[in-house]
Amino acid sequence: MSIVTRFAPSPTGHLHLGHAFSATIAWRRAREAGGRFLLRLEDIDPSRCRPEFATAILEDLAWLGLDWDGDVRVQSGHLPEYQALLDALSERGLLYPCFCTRADIAREIEASANAPHAPDGSLIYPGTCRALSADERDARIAAGERFALRLHMQRAVQGPLSFEEEGDGTIVCNPAAFGDVVLARKDAPASYHLCVTHDDALQGVTLVTRGQDLQPATHIHRLLQALMGWPAPQYAHHRLLTDAAGRRLAKRDRAATLRDLHTGGVSAGDVRAMLGV
Ligand code: GLU
Repeated sequence: MSIVTRFAPSPTGHLHLGHAFSATIAWRRAREAGGRFLLRLEDIDPSRCRPEFATAILEDLAWLGLDWDGDVRVQSGHLPEYQALLDALSERGLLYPCFCTRADIAREIEASANAPHAPDGSLIYPGTCRALSADERDARIAAGERFALRLHMQRAVQGPLSFEEEGDGTIVCNPAAFGDVVLARKDAPASYHLCVTHDDALQGVTLVTRGQDLQPATHIHRLLQALMGWPAPQYAHHRLLTDAAGRRLAKRDRAATLRDLHTGGVSAGDVRAMLGV
């Protein structure tokens, strides 16, 4: 089977060295195996993504010397596909509307005796809206109240699941540890989890390479794959680059962007040597 990898950044800022590391790993894995390397822009969050960053990502990757196969998939151009998935899951009784605000959730958690955390560090949703009656749900929707859609985790988990992590072997999934995750936000048409899993399947990705900060999310992705009958790719979560102080590079910290390096006279070859990939 021919290998298909991908780099799937969200255009919320300029690419930094951490992205260059991640993109180069995916690109190299495909090129060395004579496979395909895909580029996808995960821009479904309108409040954080900007078209100028999308353009800059393509320029910066080209500057770095990475080429991709086929057209770039831009998620915001495919919203009806994600809506169809949400409709299908809703019809199966696997989603419910959640009207809670962040403050409602915080209040509910504070009032309860314990506040368990999901493996990704987020607080587990206490399930408030799962208990609403159908009449109450309908009334609130009819009144125009905005809502997110959450996965009814208890119904969704049907049996044991695992994924293959390169180097580590089989990892047993525990999606229930995340609680009722959001699959469509109040302010965004679909969630990262839904879109990334759908697109990896649609595009025939066989090897997902990405930072190890996203490994916890893979437990949810594996569940969605099982629910939708999509194939499970192989996973290779890589280490995260850190700065001199040992902190993870992130856009919000203004980590050295490829643009800054370029403008400062650093060549793409220097960047690749710096990254060691
Ligand atoms: N779009 C995600 C991000 O930029 C990455 C998705 C993935 O590689 O699975 O963090």
